[in-house]
Amino acid sequence: MKFNTKTIHGNQKPEPTTGAVMPPIFQTSTYAQSAPGVHNGYEYSRGANPTRTALEDALASIEDGSRGLAFASGLAAIDAVMKLLNPGDEVIAMDDLYGGSYRMFTRIFSKYGIIFHFVDMTQIDNVLNKINAHTKLIWVETPTNPLMKVVDIESLCQQVKEMSDALIAVDNTFASPYNQQPLTMGADIVMHSATKYLGGHSDLIAGALVVKDEKLGEDLHFQLFAGGGVLGPQDSFLVLRGIKTLALRMERHAENAMACAKFLQEHDAVKTVYYPGLTEHPQHEVAKKQMKSFGGMLSFSFNSGKKEDAEKFLTSLKVFTLAESLGGVESLANHPVSMTHASIPEVKRKALGIDDDLVRLSVGIEDVDDLVQDLEQALSNINS
Ligand SMILES: *Cc1c(COP(=O)(O)O)cnc(C)c1O
Repeated sequence: MKFNTKTIHGNQKPEPTTGAVMPPIFQTSTYAQSAPGVHNGYEYSRGANPTRTALEDALASIEDGSRGLAFASGLAAIDAVMKLLNPGDEVIAMDDLYGGSYRMFTRIFSKYGIIFHFVDMTQIDNVLNKINAHTKLIWVETPTNPLMKVVDIESLCQQVKEMSDALIAVDNTFASPYNQQPLTMGADIVMHSATKYLGGHSDLIAGALVVKDEKLGEDLHFQLFAGGGVLGPQDSFLVLRGIKTLALRMERHAENAMACAKFLQEHDAVKTVYYPGLTEHPQHEVAKKQMKSFGGMLSFSFNSGKKEDAEKFLTSLKVFTLAESLGGVESLANHPVSMTHASIPEVKRKALGIDDDLVRLSVGIEDVDDLVQDLEQALSNINS
């Protein structure tokens, strides 16, 4: 099956007792047994729930893995991966990282003796130079949030695997499985905030992991079951429903984002547009090689470098909504410094280039003319 068919049929089958094409929302915590220990595969919904199983099977299909797991949030999924580690283990993570991942690594897991190194993985040597006998996990994010850096997943996996048996995990939230499937490029674990493109409608919080290796799948299911951060049946249903239209939505997201990026690039008030689809983007060639399209996320900065200009722009928008999050059908605008990335210390933000005037856009699937017009009117009273 090709990808667009997989989103609708991959590992999916009608519900066996009624033929229901979509799985019912099995709103139950427990399951009757005919004799002690004799059951139909379901005992207690923290371990497994049929609606969640339907979602997990679909996730495995669209990421080309053998096992999918659905968590209560993206962070709960990352938390489960980190709990595979032991004190003294080392992690090499991307330097430009989702703010909540950075916060979890530095403020929770570093307390338990896990050591983190943050490096710019667009240069693979930066990763290789940090590898030692204690390195147990490489945490990749690409494209990154909010600077849209792109990491060459296949080359990174090849080179790391030559010198280490560390697991390689990829946060695939920004790209979505429509654009890239890291397991096919050599990664061991793919992670999603399903809150974003997989759910796609800004109406739930959910997370996912998919792996190829069955033993690793068992170990991560143990973390899910024993740690307890499971996704409920209602939200499992909604994510599954979202996945069915993923391909159509992603096509429009990418088309609209490219148009917005090109418009912004030409505007006098704009300094830099960060979008992997632009030929000026430093990793444009890598993005072209590993992604089907360039996605719906972009960031930009102002010529003036002024935070006030970003604020003026953000409060003038009429179609874009000023809000955290991304990946829904509606266009959103965000000020990383005061919103999504406020948890990253100022010196660290500055060193990365997350400046006070940076604006991040999640370009939705509205009519592109309305989006470009909205950007134009919000920029109209900002001096170049
Ligand atoms: C939102 C997000 C997360 C965290 O997911 P939640 O569902 O909010 O817990 C992790 N990584 C990236 C790239 C994200 O955008």
